[in-house]
Amino acid sequence: MDQDQTAVLRAAIRDVPDFPKPGIVFKDITPLLGDPAAFRLAMELMAEMCADLKVDQVVAIESRGFIFGGALADRIGAGFVPVRKPGKLPWRRVSRAYDLEYGTDAVEMHQDALRPGARALVVDDVIATGGTARAVSHLVEQLGAHVVGHAFLLELSFLQGRGRLAGYEVRSLIRF
Ligand code: AMP
Repeated sequence: MDQDQTAVLRAAIRDVPDFPKPGIVFKDITPLLGDPAAFRLAMELMAEMCADLKVDQVVAIESRGFIFGGALADRIGAGFVPVRKPGKLPWRRVSRAYDLEYGTDAVEMHQDALRPGARALVVDDVIATGGTARAVSHLVEQLGAHVVGHAFLLELSFLQGRGRLAGYEVRSLIRF
C-alpha cells in the first residue's frame, strides 16, 4: 500500500481529546467521510486490502461500521449483515456481551443472517481493544459461518486489539 495515499487519509482524521470520557482520544472520521476524494480513496484501499479473502457477507458493526461495511460490500460483491446494539433488530436474534475501551455493551445479529459455511468479513471503522470485533466473531461462528478476516479503516495499535483477535486475519489501512 502506498504510504502517500494513507497519509491523505490520516490527515483527514481528527483527534478529539476526552470524548466520550476523560482520557479517551476519540478518532473522529467525519472529516474523512465529508471529503469525497478521501472517502473514495479509503473505500478503494479497503476493497484492495480485502480482495483476496473471497467474502460472501460483510458483517458490520453499528453505527460507523455500517458506513464502511456497506460501501465495501458493494465494491467487493458481497452481501451486508448488520450487527446492532440490543433491542434494534426486529427478527429472532443471537446476542453476545463484551467489554469496551469505555464501558460494557452487547451486540446482536439476526439468527438467519448467515448460512452455515458462509465466508464472513467483520468490518468496523476503528479497532481499539478488539472486544467488539471478537464478540461479533463469536456471533458469526455461533451461526456456523466462517470468519475469513477483520477489516478496519483504523487501528489503535497501542491498545493491542490484535491480541484479542489472535488466530484471525486482521487488516487495517491506517495505524496510530
Ligand atoms: P473496541 O471494542 O475496544 O475495539 O472498540 C471498538 C469500537 O469502539 C468501534 O466501533 C469504534 O468505533 C469505537 N471506538 C473505540 N475507541 C475509539 C476511539 N478512541 N476513537 C474512535 N472510536 C473508538
